[in-house]
This record gives sequence, structure tokens and C-alpha cells, in this order.
Amino acid sequence: MAVLPISITGDPVLHSPAKPVDSIDGAIRELVANMFDTMDAAPGVGLAAPQIGVPLRIFTYSWSDDEVSWRGVAINPELLITPPPVGVPNPEEESEGCLSVPGERFGLRRAEHAILRATDLENVAYEINATGWLARIFQHEFDHLCGILYTDRLGEEDQRVVKKVTRKLGWGVPGKQWVPGVDRLEG
Ligand code: ZN
Repeated sequence: MAVLPISITGDPVLHSPAKPVDSIDGAIRELVANMFDTMDAAPGVGLAAPQIGVPLRIFTYSWSDDEVSWRGVAINPELLITPPPVGVPNPEEESEGCLSVPGERFGLRRAEHAILRATDLENVAYEINATGWLARIFQHEFDHLCGILYTDRLGEEDQRVVKKVTRKLGWGVPGKQWVPGVDRLEG
């Protein structure tokens, strides 16, 4: 098992749709183990396979609320969501980040409810009816599998800030990566 480099915005793998997983074999099991290691080291609450350069429909998540701990892998997921609330996001409560845009945070409205349907590593189908932050994590990670970053969903003004930061840090080009535990860009 290993902590892998995380691709930074601008790498084509992050901006293209991922492909379905055909079968869960040893290589997929190893990939998922490495995804958990990388997510935990970052640290992050979710990680999608394209973020470590693998264009497959897989994401991991790990998050605890007051009552429950959620930790798992979603293979070939589907996501059903309620419409996101209208209006501007509350910067305190709706601030989102991404390991592929490390160190940055922007407010974004997300659906309050999401139903995740996916397969686990044993090839067993499962469903999670998520609300609040867990629903947000699922929407964020599912977007990655469609080649969408949360920054793509921001308003015009925030998009301008993202462009500025991207230019300043030399991102926005293929091949940029960072390594959790080495570069310490998050957490
Ligand atoms: Zn992300």
C-alpha cells in the first residue's frame, strides 16, 4: 500500500469523464487500498480515482458526523440528488475544498439530499441515503468521475479568483502533482 501523488487542476485526467470498472480484481483492490492511504495522508474526506491519475469510476470517502462514521468505496456509482437551494452560499457553512486545488476554499451550494448507489470491493451493491455534509462529499466525488471540479461550479467572481491562483501557482497545465506528507498543501 502506498500514498500516491495527487493530480492538480489542469491535468487532463481531472477534466475528462472516467470509465466504468469492468471487474473487481487484484489491481482494483490494490488501487482502492492506495486511494484510502492517499486520502488519509492528505488528509481528505474523499478521493476519486482520477485524482491519482486513474480514469476509472471509483471514489473513496471517510467522514464522521456526531453519530455515525462513514467510510467506504463507491465503484461505478450513481447519484440521485435533490435540487440545490437557490441563493448565495454561506461562506462559513458551505465552504468546500478539493485535494486537486489544494489549500483553497470556496463557498458552493449543494443539494441537501443525495442517494448514492454503488458497488463495494466485494461486488455487493449498496445504497446510502445521505444528507448534509455526507451528501456534499458524494456530490463532490461523483463530479470528479464526470470530469468536473467544484471550482467549475463557482460563480463568476470566484472563478476569476481561481484563475488568478491557478496562474500564480503555475497550475492549469498537465502533469502538476503534489504528494501528501511531503508537500503539506492541505490540512
Ligand atoms: Zn476534489
